[in-house]
Amino acid sequence: MSFLERLRGGLRRTTDQLVSRFDSLAADGVRRVGVGPAAATASVDTLDTLEEILIEADIGVIAVRRLLDAVRDHPGERDLRSVVKGELLRMLEAATPPPVRGGRPRVVLVVGVNGTGKTTTVGRLARLLTLSGERLVICAADTFRAAAVEQLEVWARRAEAHFVRARSGADPAAVVFDAISAGTARGCDVVLIDTAGRMHTRTNLMSELEKIRRVAGRAVDGAPHETLLVIDATVGQNGLAQARAFLESAGVTGIVLTKLDGTAKGGIAVAITAELGVPIRYVGVGEQLDDLVPFSPAEYVEALFEPAW
Ligand code: GDP
Repeated sequence: MSFLERLRGGLRRTTDQLVSRFDSLAADGVRRVGVGPAAATASVDTLDTLEEILIEADIGVIAVRRLLDAVRDHPGERDLRSVVKGELLRMLEAATPPPVRGGRPRVVLVVGVNGTGKTTTVGRLARLLTLSGERLVICAADTFRAAAVEQLEVWARRAEAHFVRARSGADPAAVVFDAISAGTARGCDVVLIDTAGRMHTRTNLMSELEKIRRVAGRAVDGAPHETLLVIDATVGQNGLAQARAFLESAGVTGIVLTKLDGTAKGGIAVAITAELGVPIRYVGVGEQLDDLVPFSPAEYVEALFEPAW
């Protein structure tokens, strides 16, 4: 299955709802336009309904406002869907990942709240990177959850990645330093670091993250080169609040949006990008090993409006 097909499958619940609502909006629009003088009123109705549909998909207030403005700017355009698709694409493409620069190995830090799918994401990302020919070290800097560390070791073995783990009670920053040193000594391309899950409201854990970042920066120039925040799409707008907090204190450069398959509110990807200006880098679309898909704005917009069958 291609990434696009996987994405379509994952977005099915969102797409089903969006497409059926757009279809009835279009049919309604045609009927109303037919009554001639009532057309002006009809367009207000249409905009109200459109707003409702977009909000229901969790596209978020800022993005919805921009989409409605785009529709208003195209008064002659009967095909609302294509106007909305065009504007969605523009918004998503405006947020770009940071350019790859700095020393080798590239250090990728993965952060987030427990239960969002962080460990699963690190495992799947390791597989994706290995498949694209990169050599990597996986670092389990989670010193709290032995089960998560063991799970990650299994993922590492599958991805044929070197694995560095923290001993219980160890300083996570020291483990990160060891992992980067191992990556440098082995000539690896990437050091992928799973950090302990933390609530953005716990200041001691957030300062631990700062220490990890400092230590990584001392071990290799420009590190961490990428900090990915994992967000569970099923928590909706709450995920946006989480992202905002992490963005302020953890230097997040990209988002991994998991469990898109578990929600009809997959528009949250747009809300995150439009409100925070951070790009979505990967999306989780299921429970299988290869259900992590590199995010492409064009494919996402396409999948959003084209059902899987
Ligand atoms: P962590 O606590 O953040 O490390 O979360 P885990 O990686 O342990 O994942 C928590 C649960 O979410 C596990 O049951 C995963 O299988 C599940 N999960 C992760 N990503 C996805 C996804 O994209 N779709 C679905 N349906 N489940 C997912």
